[in-house]
Amino acid sequence: MALSGLEIYKQLPKTNCKDCGFPTCLAFAMKMAAGQVPLEKCPHVTAAAKAALESASRPPIQLVTIGADANEIKIGNETQLYRHEEKFYRPAAVAVWISDTLDPGALAARAEAIGKLRFERVGTQIKVNLVAVDNQSGDAGKFAQAAKLAAEKSGLACVLMSATADNLAKAASALAGQRPLLYIAVAAEAEAAAKVAKDNRCPLAVRVDGVEALAELVPKLNAAGVQELILDAGTRTLKGTLEALTLIRRLALKGFRQVGYPAMAFTTAEDPTMQAVEASTFIAKYAGVLVTDAIQPWQLLPILTTRQDIYIDPQKPVAVEPKLNAIGEVTAASPVLVTTNFSLSYYSVEGEVEASRVPAYILSVDTEGTSVLTAWASDKFNAATITQAMKKSGIEQKVSHRQLVIPGLVAVLSAGVEDESGWSVQIGPKEASGIPSYLKKQLQA
Ligand code: SF4
Repeated sequence: MALSGLEIYKQLPKTNCKDCGFPTCLAFAMKMAAGQVPLEKCPHVTAAAKAALESASRPPIQLVTIGADANEIKIGNETQLYRHEEKFYRPAAVAVWISDTLDPGALAARAEAIGKLRFERVGTQIKVNLVAVDNQSGDAGKFAQAAKLAAEKSGLACVLMSATADNLAKAASALAGQRPLLYIAVAAEAEAAAKVAKDNRCPLAVRVDGVEALAELVPKLNAAGVQELILDAGTRTLKGTLEALTLIRRLALKGFRQVGYPAMAFTTAEDPTMQAVEASTFIAKYAGVLVTDAIQPWQLLPILTTRQDIYIDPQKPVAVEPKLNAIGEVTAASPVLVTTNFSLSYYSVEGEVEASRVPAYILSVDTEGTSVLTAWASDKFNAATITQAMKKSGIEQKVSHRQLVIPGLVAVLSAGVEDESGWSVQIGPKEASGIPSYLKKQLQA
């Protein structure tokens, strides 16, 4: 039974240290009792208190681990419906689909291509997490071979999808120790698949048509010894899937334990652009695992970008260290650009300077991680802060000229910066994409 806020409070250290982000231990206890924050946010709780609080700290959405070692991914354990209340913690796992009907050469090539689907964005690598091997052949031997080849060539953890528990058992044993996610596509086979999952210590995903049917099945799977479940309500339209994902999340957060598990979604659109739209929609609300056969980098980049944006903390701007950065083989004649320390602003500028192949200095000013216009509007990016950052960076000793390029969006700052710093100010482009041509023109001039 759930514990009250006061019962939880009694087990906390009562130091009001604020490390959990709440002003007092009591405030934290109340939020925890409401299921809005996990116990792990308090780093000072003792092992004895942890055990006593186990029932209260059990998240409304079960934590599920897929894969092993470097490929391990944890999903679930979320506590909120809206990310402005509390950040979403565990990014959805993105799986790219592959059929076991492909001949080994084509399968290996597709698996290798899936493994390479990774991109660099705002200083972070974003990538596909899983390869979903579908037993379309219906043949157990072929399925096991395909699973092995896909895991080997992609270097990723696997989702093994089949309509029969026996075939899942064969493929799971081919990936022993790799902890694949077993997905059973037929409700009548779900309990047999639970035994396979238990024997192989794997998480299990089940497809049953409808959320009510899932709620009836889950206690049977728990009784069979499987706690790490992922739910597929069987919907295959954009609207239907969005409704099912939202319903599962809402019910779970209200304490309806039978559906307190991450949910799974599939893209089904034939149009490649719509596949990316479907996938991004399901990631935004509230897929824990997304399976798609979108494999083109231009499809995956927006999907993974959506995931990255959804799972950052909206209450904390993503910032880079405020400092002087040398891009390329800089010399005393290299141009000096200034921007803020909002990571998206900084990396946009850095990427375009790199693309221009003109070595340059970029000075990122501490604006508490806010973008150029936001920082300017809140007076964090002004003549004084820019001049202060220039002095602190030692740029005067690094270049022989005294020319500073400021973002075109804040051209209004030019006179103030010139007065304050004594440098001559040049107005750069409004958008980072204009930087390469701007720098090349400057070089020619
Ligand atoms: Fe209390 Fe723990 Fe929060 Fe500190 S981190 S205020 S000890 S609940």
